This record gives sequence, structure tokens and C-alpha cells, in this order.
Amino acid sequence: MDVMSEKSAKSLVKPIISFRNVVKKFGSMVAVDNVSLDIEPGEFFALLGPSGCGKTTLLRMLAGFEVPTDGQVLIDGQDMGATSPNQRPVNMVFQSYAVFPHMTVAKNVGYGLKIDGVPAQDIETRVQEALELVQLGHLAGRMPDQLSGGQRQRVALARALIKKPKVLLLDEPLSALDAKLREAMRFELSQLQQKVGITFIMVTHDQDEALAIASRIAVMHKGGISQLGTPSDLYEFPASRFVADFIGSVNMFEGTLLKDEPDEALIGCPELAPHAIHLPHSAPGNVNAPVWVAIRPEKMNLHKNSDEPPPVRDCPAAHNVCKGVIKEISYLGDTSIFHVQLANGRLVRVSRPNRSRYDQDNYGWGETVWVSWSGSSPVVLLS
Ligand code: ATP
Repeated sequence: MDVMSEKSAKSLVKPIISFRNVVKKFGSMVAVDNVSLDIEPGEFFALLGPSGCGKTTLLRMLAGFEVPTDGQVLIDGQDMGATSPNQRPVNMVFQSYAVFPHMTVAKNVGYGLKIDGVPAQDIETRVQEALELVQLGHLAGRMPDQLSGGQRQRVALARALIKKPKVLLLDEPLSALDAKLREAMRFELSQLQQKVGITFIMVTHDQDEALAIASRIAVMHKGGISQLGTPSDLYEFPASRFVADFIGSVNMFEGTLLKDEPDEALIGCPELAPHAIHLPHSAPGNVNAPVWVAIRPEKMNLHKNSDEPPPVRDCPAAHNVCKGVIKEISYLGDTSIFHVQLANGRLVRVSRPNRSRYDQDNYGWGETVWVSWSGSSPVVLLS
């Protein structure tokens, strides 16, 4: 299939979830502001944003726990306006993954089926299947207080999956776990989603978590969607200062677009560098208008001090370099972050991987250094 027909075939996939111009107000407070969004079957989708941006409200409208003030929520093409929560083909795993304390793991997992009147024999088989899925088959007879946090989390997952929903909703699923377990569970969640093949929609404020697990992410801000894309789209091509800053860490400077040709743009950015920043491609915005320049710390390089500025890849001499003094070094194990203070007082963060066990000794506090970046590193933003 050529690229065009692959693209058009993709766009023909019927979304499993559609939000159409959805608004949710609590009194005069607009929590969700005219959101339209399609999610395809089989996606691991993340709603990501800072506290209060409306992501949980959006998820709760999908589950039926909140009613939209305006707009439509469709699941598998059906308008959910008149469908109660327990009749929707979705199931939700809550942040606290509440389990019944007086029931064994197996009883907890099978509870929903029992309420639905499924015969005991079928319940037993399906409970065992669901527990195997989350690798808890051996703990079916345990009580919840005999489980670790990660195991309780898996019980909650099994309980949600046993009803074979079309969509699994996860509200901050890993937030109650410690850092090490969170990382392990990220991998497990992603494996689980691939195994069961159903659509997972996760709400999180943790950008590392969203980047690590989700196939697509909607970044939310003030009730709306700021940007929608794959993790690498959002990280490498943020469309606004908000997204650039929210996803990962970034150095941000004000500048002015001085020249814009198809194969070269120049941005005056005296805050960062004495010579204009050079890009080997055109830039958004109008010549002589203000722009923002965002550069990730790992896309900047450190060089030992010398009389001449270091040469920079795909860039004319003297452009895309500045000089400063290392004010602080944060050693993080796999990388070190260098806080370099420029002559005007601004700090630039440069991160370097510690590939050798002795890398961290290469630069010291108070050392004068050059900082450089290639022409393809800066992202130019208009807002
Ligand atoms: P968090 O990560 O802190 O949970 P969130 O992005 O999930 O934040 P929501 O819980 O969706 O945000 O809340 C969005 C806004 O709506 C917030 O300002 C919140 O205070 C408000 N809000 C949510 N639920 C209600 C409610 N039942 N009544 C009034 N205001 C509400």
C-alpha cells in the first residue's frame, strides 16, 4: 500500500470513542471547553495535563459519571447521552483501586459477574483467566490486606477486564505506587494492553508515564486540548510554549525572526547568543516579529573553553554558540545536568549522558565553557 492509501485507509477506521464539541460546566466554571476528539480501537491513549485541566472530568463523562453540559460522547458510534454508566461498554480502574477488604482476590475479581447473574462455573473460569492475565493466578485465595500495592493494583485491573469492556478507563493508575514499582508497572500495563488488544484510556499528570506507555497523547490545558500526537511528536515538535514546557524540560528564550528563506532562517536572540541563531530551514512567523526559541537540554553541547568558538554541525561559524560559567552540576546517575550561567545572568540547562564511569569528572563547578547547538535543535514557537 502506498503512503497516501495507507493514510486514507487509516482515516477510515471507525473511532471507538468520539467526543464532539463537549463542554462541561460546574456552575459558571468551565471544566471542559468544547473538546472534539476521536480515539481509535486498540489505542493506548493518554489524557495528560496539569492538575485542574479537565482530564478527569473528560474521563468521567466517558464513563457516564458526569453529564456533558453540551456536545456528544459516542462509544463505538453510539451516542451515550441516554446510557447509564453500568450499561456503557467501558470499565474504570480508579486511582485508589478500591478492592473489597473482606473478600479474597478471586471473589473481588468475580464480584461484577456475580452481580450480573453469571453462573458460578463460568465465573470461576473467567476469574482464573483474568488473574492469569495479570499474573496473579497463584494468589486467588489471598485477602487484599495480604497483598502489596502493585498486586492490589493488578486485582483492580483484573476486576475491570473480566467484564470484557470495549474500553478500559484508567484514572492515574500508577500514582499510588512507589517510583520503582511504577516503572515496572508501566511496562506491565503496556504489555497487558497489547495482550488484550482493547482500547485503554489513561488519565495522568505524569508526563514520563504518558510518554513511556501511550501510543497517542492529548495534552490538556484549561479545559481544552493543546496538542494531540504521538509521544515523539509532542516532545520533538511541540506546538506551543505550554506543551514544550510541560513535556520534558526545555530552555526557552525570546527572539525576533530576522530572515526567513526556504533553506535558512535567522533569529536574533540576544538573551542566548551574541550572533543570530541559524536554522537550516524556514521558520514560522513573520520577519521582524517576535518568536520563542525552545531548545531541549540534551540537544545542547558543552565544550571546554578556548579562544575560538567551537565549530557547530550544519551551521556557519560563530552562530549557535554562547559562552558561560557552570554554576551547578546535578548528577543524576545516567545523566548530569549542567546549569550554565551566561554573561547576562540567564541560566541554560545542558544535559549529558554519563557514558563512562568517569564522565562526570570532565567539567567542574565554576568552569568557563562554550555551549553549542546544531541548527536542527531549536523549535521556533509563536505562542
Ligand atoms: P487533577 O489531576 O487534579 O485530578 P484534572 O485535570 O483531572 O485535575 P478535573 O478533576 O477534571 O481536573 O477538574 C477540572 C476543573 O473542574 C477543576 O477546576 C475542578 O476543581 C473542577 N471540578 C471538577 N469536578 C467538580 C465538581 N463536581 N464540582 C465543581 N467543580 C468541579
